[in-house]
Amino acid sequence: MNYFTKDKRYNTLTEYYKSKFNHKVAKINLNGSFTCPNRDGKKGYGGCTFCSSLGSGDFAGDKDKSILEQFIDIKTIMEKKWPDIYYIPYFQANSSTYKPLDELKKLYSEAIKAAGDKCVGLDIATRADAITDECIKYLGELNKSIPVTVELGLQTSNEKTGILINRCITNQEVIDCVKKLRCENIEVVIHIINGLPGEAKKDYLNTIDFVNSLDIQGIKLHSLLILKNTKMEEEYKNGLISPLSLSQYVDIVVDEICHLRDDIIIHRLSADGKIDDLIEPKWTIKKLVVMNEIDKKLRRENLYQGIYYKKKEI
Ligand code: SF4
Repeated sequence: MNYFTKDKRYNTLTEYYKSKFNHKVAKINLNGSFTCPNRDGKKGYGGCTFCSSLGSGDFAGDKDKSILEQFIDIKTIMEKKWPDIYYIPYFQANSSTYKPLDELKKLYSEAIKAAGDKCVGLDIATRADAITDECIKYLGELNKSIPVTVELGLQTSNEKTGILINRCITNQEVIDCVKKLRCENIEVVIHIINGLPGEAKKDYLNTIDFVNSLDIQGIKLHSLLILKNTKMEEEYKNGLISPLSLSQYVDIVVDEICHLRDDIIIHRLSADGKIDDLIEPKWTIKKLVVMNEIDKKLRRENLYQGIYYKKKEI
């Protein structure tokens, strides 16, 4: 079964949710005041070079508010547009499993409770080395009553690029974590960034081959964003980084879609930073334009998700 539409030649999240829940579903981005092992010294210092001080959670709720308050703030806006919508609380900022299990249980249950009888899932973004076996077991139990999704940052399968961006995690750690999550039947979404320093077409396609080899259910792709007050801002100012143009990005993404396994749900194909913090690429602000350009190219060249997929052993 695929989740394409008349205009989208790939598995869209909207169609997937419609089919799974028979309803329109919104994710509510929450901030559980987490940090990250790549910032506090457990794994590294300073974080990934592209990561903002908000831990890639620039559009998550206000961390100074309770989970319930954050939820209500966003829900109030959503309900004006879609009064009968279902919700998936989404812990987005930093590594949202990086606390003792008791605290995690409290945060996740607050979020589920805030969504009440309209809650149809729980989504948590983290990194593979920030989730303990006991947390995976707990989420596995929770998953029996409410669908749990865990999103893992990979960014690239090129370990050399991983060092350049101070990712401080290996591909093997991601492979092992995906296996453990799948043992509990938890859906897994992998995050990929296009336009990382030194990467070319072969790197993007290698990353897609790597992702295809994992038992994952979803993917998020976006262009590298150069944000203020990051290590990458310095590198950009020193001429070490060239942001992708819109047409380069569209070419890369279309190629990736074509090589991607056709059962994987595409949760996102673009991302934008806060306007005041975004240095480059400015075209990312116009998300609708980006999406239209991707759809146009797929249609024009009669391409679709999985058309070039070939099973490869990694
Ligand atoms: S792992 Fe995620 S939260 Fe941590 S520094 Fe990297 S991008 Fe930021």
